[in-house]
Amino acid sequence: MPVRRIDVRERVMARNDEFAVSVRERLADHSIMAFNLVSSPGSGKTLLLERTLETLGEELDIAVVTGDVQTQNDADRLARHTTRLVQAVVTGGACHLDARQVLDALDAIDLDRTRLLFIENVGNLVCPASWDLGEAAKIVVFSVTEGEDKPLKYPKMFEQARYAVLNKTDLLPYVPFDVALAESNAKTINPALEFFLTSALTEDGLEPWFTFLRERVVHGAAV
Ligand code: MG
Ligand code: ZN
Repeated sequence: MPVRRIDVRERVMARNDEFAVSVRERLADHSIMAFNLVSSPGSGKTLLLERTLETLGEELDIAVVTGDVQTQNDADRLARHTTRLVQAVVTGGACHLDARQVLDALDAIDLDRTRLLFIENVGNLVCPASWDLGEAAKIVVFSVTEGEDKPLKYPKMFEQARYAVLNKTDLLPYVPFDVALAESNAKTINPALEFFLTSALTEDGLEPWFTFLRERVVHGAAV
């Protein structure tokens, strides 16, 4: 008898892409810009989001969906900086968010009062690269305490991302990290990648980030 091999992974991804289309449609209906923040664990993306909510949360009507493997600690941290509901998705072991979880999370969000949605993905530079969540763009966050070769080790993520945030620049005097090398590594993978250099801790370099977000949301600049 011939063997029929069913590629389960392919089917699951196809389902995900259908949900991502639905997410994209719902966001478009409400003119909402959405960014999918991806990073390795500990790059500081929750703190970057906290700063962003503090400064722009009201101005840009920001809503947040945040995923964690276990605990809703990040959601609790973010909730301190906004009067809006922060949607926590506990993936219960899964190392990425999928579009269906985001679609479900949208049900709890007041979309008429939202202009910018951040999806904080699970900290993992591998499989979140393959999962379309219906975002306008992926933004990869990494930090100077990681290697300059991170883009070379995780090429798919840097290829999929439209923007990169290099965070924790306040630590540059103390760590042997070559910013120019990291940027050139990233650009060999993805020449179109645009960089932000930030310290979410000291708030250095956040102004260009805020300007970027305002331009996308208020002036509808292309992503
Ligand atoms: Mg986090
Ligand atoms: Zn995963």
